[in-house]
Amino acid sequence: MRAVRPTSSPTVILRHCPTYDVQRIRAMVREALDTFGLEPRGRTLVKPNLVSAGNLFKHAHTRPEVVEGVLLALKDRDKGMVDLTVGERCGITIPTRYVFAHSGVDAVVERTGVKRSFFEEELQVEVPLTHAGRLRDSLYVPEPVARADFFVNLPKFKSHPWTTVTFSMKNYIGIQDDRHRLIDHDHRLDEKVADLQYVLQPQLVVIDAVIAGEGRMLTPIPRDLGLLVLGNNQPAIDAVCCAVIGVDPKTVPHIELPSRRGFGPIDLSAIRLEGDVTLDEAKARAKGFQVGLVRVEKYFEGTKITAYAGPPPEPERTDYCWGGCPGAIEEAVEILRLFDESFDAKSPRLHVVFGNYQGPIDAKEGEKVVFIGDCAQWRGRLGDAPVAIESTYQPRETKDPRTATADDIYAKMAQVGGKLALAARQPFVRLHGCPVSVAEQVLALAFLSGSKNPYFEKTEIVAFNKAYVTWRAKMAAKRLTGAPYQVAGPARRGEAKPDLGPG
Ligand code: SF4
Repeated sequence: MRAVRPTSSPTVILRHCPTYDVQRIRAMVREALDTFGLEPRGRTLVKPNLVSAGNLFKHAHTRPEVVEGVLLALKDRDKGMVDLTVGERCGITIPTRYVFAHSGVDAVVERTGVKRSFFEEELQVEVPLTHAGRLRDSLYVPEPVARADFFVNLPKFKSHPWTTVTFSMKNYIGIQDDRHRLIDHDHRLDEKVADLQYVLQPQLVVIDAVIAGEGRMLTPIPRDLGLLVLGNNQPAIDAVCCAVIGVDPKTVPHIELPSRRGFGPIDLSAIRLEGDVTLDEAKARAKGFQVGLVRVEKYFEGTKITAYAGPPPEPERTDYCWGGCPGAIEEAVEILRLFDESFDAKSPRLHVVFGNYQGPIDAKEGEKVVFIGDCAQWRGRLGDAPVAIESTYQPRETKDPRTATADDIYAKMAQVGGKLALAARQPFVRLHGCPVSVAEQVLALAFLSGSKNPYFEKTEIVAFNKAYVTWRAKMAAKRLTGAPYQVAGPARRGEAKPDLGPG
């Protein structure tokens, strides 16, 4: 067992990178490896952010040119790599092999001769957690993550509706498959991301901020920053990225908590800054950058949808579920708006309710009320009928990662479609889940509004289904040969130790 200690000399390099030029990126990464004194060896894993790709999601993912530049630089400085792999679990329900193909990363993998890993198809291994304040005693990650000797984190510089920003540490949500990712993906999501830090720490972080993403995470507004941000410590690089867009990292719990636990500094005075772009120049490029944290009631102001949000369980912690259903509906609406420009016009008057909301719902005759999430609760009258919505939320301690399950997209389509069809004449409908995912909310809103459903996009459906069938066939073959999908017990990792030095 080998602990991975974050560096005790946290350094962040800001580089001017106006275009996605592979050779320029390669040179910058090579120089950063030299600056940090890093020599890739052993099992080397590169983890981009490939949450989604394709026409609707052009700015959601780490660009393939950045992946290629990093892979070539690692090869240039190879000091005994036994393999070099690009691995990821993209957004839930989507086959990662589909996103690899559509993001252009498959072509990079082919050109560079490295391996690829679709994390949801890998053996999932249990990693014990022992630190104070953890959400649970263990979590599961794919074997390539647990076994990596040299880890390179390759995020996209973006806003996020659940966690304000997604830079380096938030990119760890993609090291879990769907059934494990969904556990604790609620009002304590920031703490989940902080717990994932104990699995391993990267030796190198390279953030794609050439074209950054504003406002949201799946369909962000492109923002030309012309930057490549490189670092050797996760809290430090996230803190500098926060500073670039004018966010105080102390206000972002998934960044502040790991720092407080000793993983690295977020105080700029404890971080060495290098590169050919000063922090002030970077700030000037990002002036007015929109972050993603907008409460759902505000988000829907001026539309035909009215949102009502009460507190999630554990109201003593927060009055709003930042990590779950409300943020998911914002992402779902943005996808539908891009996919069908008449979504807002087509949408009927709707009311969406989250958490333990006990105020009035201003629904007129014929207007549907949608209660979203297991924790939704409400009592009152809709039309002439009394309505009592009870919480079906399962307490955190009853959710066991060893037995967790997740539905695939076709099961979700059947469930959501069936439920909405059955409730067609009812004044309300209830969607269960914790969280109710972006995919489910896209399906529900497309159904209720009569908008085009992105899952039925003709130009994509063949490729999507091909990837889906291959994924399912691979998993079925593993089951037939008796290969375990998940193993319990301590993995080699799980011992990432905070740096108890400065910061
Ligand atoms: S059901 Fe949704 S809103 Fe409620 S705690 Fe879970 S994720 Fe949050």
